[in-house]
Amino acid sequence: MRICAFAIALFFGVGLPALYAQDWRTPAEVSEYRTTPDYAEALTYLDRIAAAAPSLVKIEDFGKTGEGRDLKIVIASKDGVFDPAAIHASGRVILLVQNAIHAGEMDGKDACLALLRDIVITKSKAALLDHAVFVFIPVYNIDGHERRSPYNRINQNGPDVMGWRGNGTNLNLNRDYMKADTPETRAFLKMFHRWMPDFFVDDHVTDGADFQYDVTYTIDAGPDVAPGTAKWIRETVTPELEKQVGAAGHVASPTYITLVDDTDPAQGLGFNDDPPRFSTGQMILENRPGMLVELHMLKDYKTRVTGNYEVLRALLEVMNRDASKLIALNAEADAEAAKLGSHPLDNSKFPLKLEWNGETTPFLFRGYKYTRELSAVSGAMWVSYSHEPWNATLPFATGVKVALATTPPAAYILPKQWTHVIDVLAAHDVAMKQTTSDWTGKVERYRCEGMDWQGPPFEGRHPIFGGEGAGAEPGKFGHCSLTTETASFPAGSVVVELHQRLSKVAIHWLEPEAPDSAMRWGFFDPIFEQKEYGEAYVLEKLAREMMAKDPALKAEFEKRVQNDPRFAASPDARLEFFYERSPWFQENRVGLYPVGRLLSLDGVPVE
Ligand SMILES: [Zn+2]
Repeated sequence: MRICAFAIALFFGVGLPALYAQDWRTPAEVSEYRTTPDYAEALTYLDRIAAAAPSLVKIEDFGKTGEGRDLKIVIASKDGVFDPAAIHASGRVILLVQNAIHAGEMDGKDACLALLRDIVITKSKAALLDHAVFVFIPVYNIDGHERRSPYNRINQNGPDVMGWRGNGTNLNLNRDYMKADTPETRAFLKMFHRWMPDFFVDDHVTDGADFQYDVTYTIDAGPDVAPGTAKWIRETVTPELEKQVGAAGHVASPTYITLVDDTDPAQGLGFNDDPPRFSTGQMILENRPGMLVELHMLKDYKTRVTGNYEVLRALLEVMNRDASKLIALNAEADAEAAKLGSHPLDNSKFPLKLEWNGETTPFLFRGYKYTRELSAVSGAMWVSYSHEPWNATLPFATGVKVALATTPPAAYILPKQWTHVIDVLAAHDVAMKQTTSDWTGKVERYRCEGMDWQGPPFEGRHPIFGGEGAGAEPGKFGHCSLTTETASFPAGSVVVELHQRLSKVAIHWLEPEAPDSAMRWGFFDPIFEQKEYGEAYVLEKLAREMMAKDPALKAEFEKRVQNDPRFAASPDARLEFFYERSPWFQENRVGLYPVGRLLSLDGVPVE
C-alpha cells in the first residue's frame, strides 16, 4: 500500500506535471522538424514562455496586416525593462530580427522560438542578454504565412506545409520598404522608429544554386554605409560570424551566393546591390547595420533552423561584446547623415546607386560537382548537381563603383498638392516643415524626358525601371537635367531639410534618378502627360507665322525634314515641332519636376 501511495504521489503530485512543465520543446522540435507552427500555435508557445518568465519577456502589438491580423514583437530583456528609451539609456544594444517577410521562408521563426527558450527558460544562453536586448518579429508577413500549402515553395526542402511569398494583396513586402504601399510596411516603420534598434536582421531561405553552405548571409558595408560601421562589419562581424557558425557545425558563407551564370557555377559570384526597396537597403538609409540571412533551400529543415539559430546566437555574442562600440558607431552614422546638405556648395557627392567596377577577388567556393548538358526540354543548358563536394577558388565580383550620385541640396521644397509623395515621407517619419507665405526665389529644378514605363506590373505598379520576375520587361529611365531658375511656391509648400537623421530617405525618395525614387515608382507620372494640344488647322497657321519671323527656325525645320525620314513622314510630328517651340507648349510644363532643390534656406518662410 505504502509503495502504491508513493507511486501515486509521484505520478500525480510531482512526476507528470513536472515532466510536462519541463517540456519546452518548440512546436518544430516536437515534430522533429517535419512541420512549422501556424501563427496561432507559434503565439501559444510564445505566450507560454512569457507567462513562465514575465520579468524577462513581453509581447507587444505593433499594428495590423491587411487582413486584420495582429503584428507582434517579442522582447527579451534581462531586467524587465521593456521601454526602448530606458533600454537605450541603460547602454544596452537592441537587436531586431524579422522573420517570414517571405512567409514560405519561416526558418527564422522557429530559430527565434528556440533561442528565446534557451535565453529565458533553460537559461543556457542567458548571458546573451547581459548587454543586449533581443527583439523579434515572429512572423512579419502573417497573411502570407497563413496561406499554407505543401506547394508554395517548389525549390524548398520542407517543412510539410508553408506560407506564401506575397502578402494579402500579393505584394512582396521586401520590395515595399521605400514606397510603403502596404499596412505592414507602415506599421514596421512606426515600430522601428519607436525601438531604434542597433542592429537589424532579416531572415530568409534562398532560391538559386545548390552548394555545401547551409547558412549564407550578407551585411552591407559598401561606400553607402557610414565608414566606421562598414569597417567594423568587414573586419569584425562578417568574419566572426563565419567562424562561430562554422564552429557550431554548420557551413557558413559570409556572402549571399549570386552566381554570374545560373547554369555554370565555375563562372564565379556576381555583384549584389541593395537599393532601399529591400529591408537591408532601407537600413542603409536608417544608418543602422542590416544583415540578410539566407538559409539554403535544399538543406533539411532541422539543419536550416539550427543554422539560423547559430547565426543569431553568434551575432548576439558579438553585439554583447562590442555593445559600447556599436552604440558609438550608430551615433556617428546618425550625425554624419544629419550633416548632409549642410555644405551644399562643397560638391561632396552622395551615392545613389552602386555598380560592379569590373574587379574581382578570389573566393573559395564550397560547391558541389555538377554536369551541364543541353536540355531537350528547355532547349537551353541545364545543370545537374551531385552531392560530391567541389571546392574551387572562383572570381567574386567585389569591386564597387558609384554609378549614380548627387550633390545634396540644403533642402527640398514641394507644393502641398503632391500628397501621395508627402505621405510616404511622413510614413518614414522624415521631418518636414511648411512655408508660412507664398515664396518666390532661386531653386534648382529638373526637367525630365524620354521615360519608358514598364509594361507588365511590378509590385502593383508600372515603374520606370527594369523589372524582376518572369515576363517583366525593363522600362527605361530617360534623362533629367538640372537648371537654376526663379520659381514660385505657394504658402503651405512642404520643405524637407536634410539637416536630420533621415536625410538619406528624403534624398532617395526625391532625387528622380535614385533607384527607388517617387518618380521611378510612378508617383509623378502626371507630370509627363500633355493636357492641351494644338489642332492641325491652328498649327498650320502658327507654323507659317513662326517661319516667317524666324529664318533660323525655318532652316532647322527644313534640315530635320531632309535628314529624319520618320519625322518627315509624320504630319503630327512636323506640326508638333512648331507647337513645342511656341509659348502655348511651355504652359503644359511637360516633364517639369515639381520638387525644387534649395541651396540655402535664407529667406524661405518656414515655421
Ligand atoms: Zn526571401
